[in-house]
Amino acid sequence: MANSNNNEHFIPLSVPNFAGREKEYVSEAVVSEWVSTGGSKVTEFENAVAAYTGMPRAVACNSGTSGLHLALMAAGIGRGDEVLAPTLTFIAAVNPIRYVGAEPVFIGCDDSLCMSPAATQEFLRTRCEKRPGGVYNRASGARVAAILVVHVFGNMAGMPAFAALANEWGLALIEDATEALGTKYTSGPFAGKMAGTIGDVGAYSFNGNKIITTGAGGMLVSNHPDWAEHAKHLSTQAKADELQFLHDEIGYNYRMTNLQAALGLAQLEQLEGFIAHKHARWQQYKTALDGKNGYRILDFQEDGVRSNKWFYSLYLEDPRHDRDTMIAALKARDIQTRPVWALIHEQADYGKNEAYALEKALDYRARIINLPCSTNLSEEDCQRVIDTLLAL
Ligand SMILES: *Cc1c(COP(=O)(O)O)cnc(C)c1O
Repeated sequence: MANSNNNEHFIPLSVPNFAGREKEYVSEAVVSEWVSTGGSKVTEFENAVAAYTGMPRAVACNSGTSGLHLALMAAGIGRGDEVLAPTLTFIAAVNPIRYVGAEPVFIGCDDSLCMSPAATQEFLRTRCEKRPGGVYNRASGARVAAILVVHVFGNMAGMPAFAALANEWGLALIEDATEALGTKYTSGPFAGKMAGTIGDVGAYSFNGNKIITTGAGGMLVSNHPDWAEHAKHLSTQAKADELQFLHDEIGYNYRMTNLQAALGLAQLEQLEGFIAHKHARWQQYKTALDGKNGYRILDFQEDGVRSNKWFYSLYLEDPRHDRDTMIAALKARDIQTRPVWALIHEQADYGKNEAYALEKALDYRARIINLPCSTNLSEEDCQRVIDTLLAL
């Protein structure tokens, strides 16, 4: 992200906010000389995220992508398996499926932008069958092993429906909550539960553009204590004996450093404040732009959910607004925006994968612009984005 832009009028899309105790905690790590993967702050940060998310254990790792890779391995997904996954998402949600030798089957989204539970159910009922040993995709003959949902832009995917499907069909349920730390149910069957903690295993990201950042980093949580332990083991070179350097499977160096954890501890202290800020600016955009000039500000699921409202979506309802022309016009006025991701089933390495119920994903891909949403975006700068949009 371009937070080093010298132009003071420039409004970035999403930049980190280090207004808390970041310098203090990082200095402590430097002074202690524990800057690498040892040191007390990694454990402290794991414990803090576990407490925040209401989980018994959290496993720190060096990115959200590695967290998802560990999640798939912990879930036992492997060569020849298929995983139902969204097409409207960042590619890092899907690549780990390939890392373990499995293949994604792409499912479209609903109006939350998250993978549609209805389409997932329809795919399972019309295209798959239960046989001894699991669920099989009739067209490919492959075993369907898991559902991987992504809580897009901080919106909660329809977890009661996904949990019921996973249960009915005997599938693992994996949550990519990389964008959704802090999103939680406030009522319903999962009242009090955070995004990432409802399925079998979930992953968070602390990349620079996420709601809190460690520069780069991630965290895995699981409702199976043995899966979390296995993920920790895999992330630390699968070392079975510290002194003799015995390794009992193929491991990875996916560890977080003490420096990253120091940043994370300071960031987590501010998370609830960041979420309040995200809500205030979203409301400002919503009030000023929704229904005006051919614009809609997409809603987050509000019914029984407290979303972290990580990324804001302007939907171009009026065909006279061309997405890329608008992005260029905003850029010329020092406002950084972006389109939603190119759909994964259209990416170079996924063109041959099965893809199902794509209409809404294609439409949202064509018509969404993400608006500036930093947790230090001022009311004045937000107003400038609004005024600029209303004049286009
Ligand atoms: C950011 C992100 C990831 C990957 O997280 P990193 O920490 O950047 O590796 C995965 N999935 C989605 C949906 C993301 O937005």
